[in-house]
Amino acid sequence: MTLGLLASASCGSSEDLGRAQTPPTAPVSAWRRALGPVDDLAPEHASWLLDARAYAQTDARTLAIARRHGERSQGVDEHLAAAPNPVVDGRSTLVVQPLGGFPFDVIEGNDFVGLVRTPPLAHLAAVLAASFGLAVEVLPARPLVLDSVSGRTRRGFTQLDAQSVLHSVAAELPPHAYAMLTLVNHDLYALPEQDYAFGWSLHRDRQGIASFARFDPSFHGGLRPDDLEQAILRRSVRLLLHECAHMFGLTHCTYFRCALGPIDVLADLDARPPYPCPVCQCKLLRSAGVDPIAAVRRSVAVFAQLGLHDEAAWGRRRLEGTTA
Ligand SMILES: [Zn+2]
Ligand SMILES: [Zn+2]
Repeated sequence: MTLGLLASASCGSSEDLGRAQTPPTAPVSAWRRALGPVDDLAPEHASWLLDARAYAQTDARTLAIARRHGERSQGVDEHLAAAPNPVVDGRSTLVVQPLGGFPFDVIEGNDFVGLVRTPPLAHLAAVLAASFGLAVEVLPARPLVLDSVSGRTRRGFTQLDAQSVLHSVAAELPPHAYAMLTLVNHDLYALPEQDYAFGWSLHRDRQGIASFARFDPSFHGGLRPDDLEQAILRRSVRLLLHECAHMFGLTHCTYFRCALGPIDVLADLDARPPYPCPVCQCKLLRSAGVDPIAAVRRSVAVFAQLGLHDEAAWGRRRLEGTTA
C-alpha cells in the first residue's frame, strides 16, 4: 500500500516526447499545483520558490501517516482561503511560555523517576526568530498546577491532556502575541486514541503546546543516543518550528520532506528537515510576510552557532541552489 502511494506521488514523467505532433504540455507536479502562480511575487522570491532541487522527495512512511490520519496536503490557495491570522503591528510577537520546571523537570512513572532536560530556551527562541522573522519573547516559567488540568496514566506514566493545558493558559495570551507556544516537560496526549503527543496547536486560538518529555527515548524503553544533548536540541528545534508553523495556520505537508510533515514517532521527527518546503514557505510568505530567503539565511547562522552543522549545511546548499 505504501509503495503504491509513493508511485502515485511521483508519476507523470514518461510521455513519448519524440513522436508528438505539437509540443506537449509539461506535466505539472502536485507541488507546483499546490504552489500556484508566483508571477505576482518579487522575482527573487518567485524563482526561489520554483527551485525545489534541495528538497528530498517525500517518503512512503510520511504518506502513510497522512493517509492514516485522513490528512490531505493543503495548497497555498487553500491556506489563504482559511484566512489565517495576519501579522499586524502590535500583534507580531511569538511568545514562548514555559510551564513547570525549566530547564529540567522530574517526571515519574510507576517504578521510574527521570529528569527531563531542555535546551536553553534562548537558543530555541533564536531558531524561531530566524525561521519566522518575528520577535520572540520567552516569558518566565509559570508553575504547572497538575490539579488544574486533565490527565491520565498510560503505561505507567502520567500524561497531561494538551487541550486542557492550553485551556488553562488561554487567559494568559498577551495582547501583543501573534501566538503563544506553551512548553512543558510532561508527557502529553491530545486525542484519547493517541498513545502520546509531541505537541498540539490551535491556530484560531493563537495557541500551541510542545513537550520535551519524549526526546530521551531511554525513558520509554528505547536507546539513549550518545550525543543526548545535541539530539534533544535537534528534536526541540524541529518540534518547536513545526508547532509554530501550525500556529500560522499551516497544516501537515507531504509535498516534500518538509518541516511540516506529519509526526507519529520520534523517528518521524528526526527525519524532518528544520526548514519548510517551497509550498509551506509560500504560505508563510503570502499570509505572514515571512521572506523565505532571509529566513534560510538567518537559520543557517543560528544553526551554525548552535553546533547544528548538518542543518546549517543544508541551508547553505539551499542558498547556493544545489541539489538535495
Ligand atoms: Zn503537526
Ligand atoms: Zn511543506
